Amino acid sequence: MISNKKREQYIIVVSYITLFTNAALAISKIVIGSLGGSFAVVSDGIDSSTDVIISIIALITTYIAKKPPDKIHTFGHKRAETIGTKILSFIILFAGIQLCITAVGKIISGQSSQIPNIATVVVILISIFGKITLSVINFNVGKKIKSDLIIANAKNMRNDIITSLSVFIGLGCTIFFKLTILDPIIAILVSIWILKTGFEIFFETSSELMDGIKDNEIYKSIFDVIKQFKSVKNPHKVRVRKLGNFFAVDLDIEVDPNITVKKAHEIVTQIESEIKSKIENIYDIMIHTEPYDNIQHDELYGINEKNLD
Ligand SMILES: [Zn+2]
Ligand SMILES: [Zn+2]
Repeated sequence: MISNKKREQYIIVVSYITLFTNAALAISKIVIGSLGGSFAVVSDGIDSSTDVIISIIALITTYIAKKPPDKIHTFGHKRAETIGTKILSFIILFAGIQLCITAVGKIISGQSSQIPNIATVVVILISIFGKITLSVINFNVGKKIKSDLIIANAKNMRNDIITSLSVFIGLGCTIFFKLTILDPIIAILVSIWILKTGFEIFFETSSELMDGIKDNEIYKSIFDVIKQFKSVKNPHKVRVRKLGNFFAVDLDIEVDPNITVKKAHEIVTQIESEIKSKIENIYDIMIHTEPYDNIQHDELYGINEKNLD
């Protein structure tokens, strides 16, 4: 398991590499695209500049997320990463809508009569190569340190590669067949890609901010741990939340009503350390203890083994 300090260092290094490469690619595509007469290349450049903002957000949120808990933020600051990713989705959606509107405007007004020059083709090729390299680096590091932000970043870059490839093919057709109308049409397709990514990130972060957990493997692991304790019955109202790449666990259990508080505390402490050893990145566990066959009708939420599947 990778230490938190190492994790932060990885995020910072990979974010800086991504930031500077993307900034260089974005600026060259916007400048050469404008001068060379290809709005599709400009739109690809704007897509890359959203990636520059991704990197800036990754850097800022890492600094916030590593701050220790304080009197106001008793759970720590790890959700800063989720908030950063949420802001990112708004930026991506905004860029996508802007591009789409501009490209449609170009088609309607018939502004797209220029044949793009060869420099636009060269800059797109360089961009494709650069993005493939960045995507591979981000994906591997993201998997290694379990950062959804970095993995989201890498996935977004795969879309960028497809986008740049389509721009490249479109440019070829535009130049070869002298079909200038193709250029803004490709720009519209690029903007649809951008919007799709934006919506995906928007819904994922919404779920996390509402304490949603996508896969229920972690619940299965918790029930498996409880099963090892023969004196413990009916684990219920299990709730898991994500704090950055960490998990906070709440659950209810039932124990023999005649044992001492000391004994019950012993059992609970054992369960806690067992869960921590079985599941990586547990931030906190809160166990509520009840007597056997406790009837409580207000426990309407949380997971028990019956509603797990
Ligand atoms: Zn209960
Ligand atoms: Zn205790």
